[in-house]
Amino acid sequence: MVELNSVSKIYNEGTSQAFEALKSIDMHINKGEVAILSGVSGSGKSTLLSLIAGLDKPSSGKIVVEGELISKLPDLHASAYRAKTIGVIFQHFNLLESLSVEENVIVPLINSGLDMQTITVMAEKSMKLAAISHKASQEVKALSGGEKQRCAIARALVHEPELILCDEPTANLDRANSLKFIEILQSLHAMGKTVIVATHDPLFEGLSFVSKVLSMEDGEIVNSEQRE
Ligand code: ADP
Repeated sequence: MVELNSVSKIYNEGTSQAFEALKSIDMHINKGEVAILSGVSGSGKSTLLSLIAGLDKPSSGKIVVEGELISKLPDLHASAYRAKTIGVIFQHFNLLESLSVEENVIVPLINSGLDMQTITVMAEKSMKLAAISHKASQEVKALSGGEKQRCAIARALVHEPELILCDEPTANLDRANSLKFIEILQSLHAMGKTVIVATHDPLFEGLSFVSKVLSMEDGEIVNSEQRE
């Protein structure tokens, strides 16, 4: 599903500010796996996720997702790739505060060419999965932090992506909402989705449905643990 070969990323390449954020990363994640990318802040987790999402390009190396060579995709194709294959959940929700939950969830499908009835059904399905259906018509600004995150999750999943990338998803949540997030993660796993979670939250340690833990340090994967 996700294959990285000797991937490196140098920010400000060729200048005196050059910084090697990723150093020759090799990584392999199978379809249906939930993988944790752990490591302290600054170790390169977000950089790695943004390359897999096609939001940025590696300085060298190869990234293949679902048989598609992502590291060489022109920008236009990269956004089509994201619209089809990728769902991204950030620690900041980036929601439209004065729109309702349902309206926010629908946003990624507006230019999809799908009819409104199909879009409504997809939005309902996604809100149910993210446990936020009961707030569908509520304005986002009136939601709690945990509810906002579940709205953002519903929006990230509405196009039914196969690969879901989460960047510090529980960083702004209390323990109860973090545990709810973990339940949603478990549902995604049960649906056969592939998920990569970048986190340093100890709550993710020892989860039964996590099959891989990759530990990052200074732009390198220093330990890779595969569980059955
Ligand atoms: P993490 O997600 O583990 O906190 P990041 O991938 O955000 O780590 O950052 C890895 C390193 O790359 C950090 O030292 C950070 O300062 C640096 N970095 C990230 N983005 C940029 C950028 N756009 N320009 C220059 N350096 C960056």
